[in-house]
Amino acid sequence: MAGPAPRIVLLGRQGSGKGTQATRLSAVYEVPHVSTGEAFRAAVKEGTELGRAVQGYMDRGDLVPDDMVEAVIKAHLFGPRAPEGFILDGFPRNVAQAEALELMAGHRSLDVAVNLDASTAEVLRRIAGRRVCSKCGANYNVVDNPPRVPGSCDECGSALYQRDDDTEEAVARRLELYEKATAPLIDWYRQRGLLANVDAMGEPDAVTGRVVAAVQAALARR
Ligand code: AMP
Repeated sequence: MAGPAPRIVLLGRQGSGKGTQATRLSAVYEVPHVSTGEAFRAAVKEGTELGRAVQGYMDRGDLVPDDMVEAVIKAHLFGPRAPEGFILDGFPRNVAQAEALELMAGHRSLDVAVNLDASTAEVLRRIAGRRVCSKCGANYNVVDNPPRVPGSCDECGSALYQRDDDTEEAVARRLELYEKATAPLIDWYRQRGLLANVDAMGEPDAVTGRVVAAVQAALARR
């Protein structure tokens, strides 16, 4: 790969495969994968001040206020040991956050924003089968992407669980907020020449193939 390590944003509805594809891209490009949702879930589990502040928003399926989200991104990506490249999963979630990311990233913002395009019917099916590792946050699906040993993580062996916010009400709220606040980012990135729309239906391996091809095309253009 010529040039600096890639900076990639993943967009897409809840259940479109952002977590799964981010983990795979992180291995392919050897850059960290940052999930704001995962950072918040870890803070809730550890009972930190941040965890206590965000739990109510998460349980309802609401967005956490921008200043708290941006503080997490700043700490992970633009602090003293900032990585050169990264994969962002779940951030930005609205135009204000995308503008904040541009400001934080300064002269070198992003290489590509990949939109994982999957239908509402398909994401509802995937969310019903979704399981997450209680320790490392790896994503599984009991139907499409099962762990080798049922109920335990392939990576670290810890127990898998169903997310507290994968309830019918919270999922409905999150999908509604996605359409209202997050979907406008698709055009926002398209206008900046950074959007790659990828068909996210079908097998995870096939989707990874399409995502990597889209990222390679974007890197070849820079
Ligand atoms: P996720 O794992 O990306 O589905 O995020 C889980 C929850 O964390 C969301 O429903 C929000 O409550 C919160 N969250 C994660 N990322 C963001 C963000 N960028 N802006 C606001 N809230 C977020």
